[in-house]
Amino acid sequence: MAKYIKPLCKICRKYGIKLYLKGRRCESDKCAVDQRRKKIRLIKPKKMSEYGLQLREKNKVKWYYGILERQFKRYFEIAKKHKGVTGEVLLQLLERRLDNVIYKANWVYSRKMAKQIISHGHIIVNGKKNDRPGYLVEIGDVIELKKNSKLKNTVKECIEEYKTRVRPLWLKINDEELKIEVLRYPDRSEVSIPVEEQLIINLYSK
Ligand code: SF4
Repeated sequence: MAKYIKPLCKICRKYGIKLYLKGRRCESDKCAVDQRRKKIRLIKPKKMSEYGLQLREKNKVKWYYGILERQFKRYFEIAKKHKGVTGEVLLQLLERRLDNVIYKANWVYSRKMAKQIISHGHIIVNGKKNDRPGYLVEIGDVIELKKNSKLKNTVKECIEEYKTRVRPLWLKINDEELKIEVLRYPDRSEVSIPVEEQLIINLYSK
């Protein structure tokens, strides 16, 4: 993702949802979106053109997964060629990114941190080092933390800190051995970002 130097919470406030861009702060009561929700204030939503709504949905997803425009377009092209509903396939592909899997397993505090530990070579997939955050996991893949990784304690602390957070059922996560096995691909219902994916498909289909 290109370097963005403005306050990240502003992005969540703009879209009105939690995009989990700041790690631990996102789970604390300091989260700007949660604080805003607590204030019982009815804000009339701005009227938007159809194009504006489509752009908004696309950008929301890009921020959530931390990817660039050209990467996003590539996922769309792959999704178009797959069997099934394109919007659902698109979200399923994004959910299968290695950085997302590490994040959803609670091994890291944010997707940004997931990208870092993967690109620094701390993650092993099927017995081999994998330093590509955008690697799409396959059914049967086994993901592990490198045996002598100095991040072992950090990962264990993160698992402990986030132990109440629900983890995906399509992954079998072994906290003792720090191992994740991909049991199946995620369903649409398991993608937690609130998004109208059909608007994104309409945008790219023009
Ligand atoms: Fe900030 Fe909350 Fe968004 Fe995290 S989820 S970046 S704390 S507004």
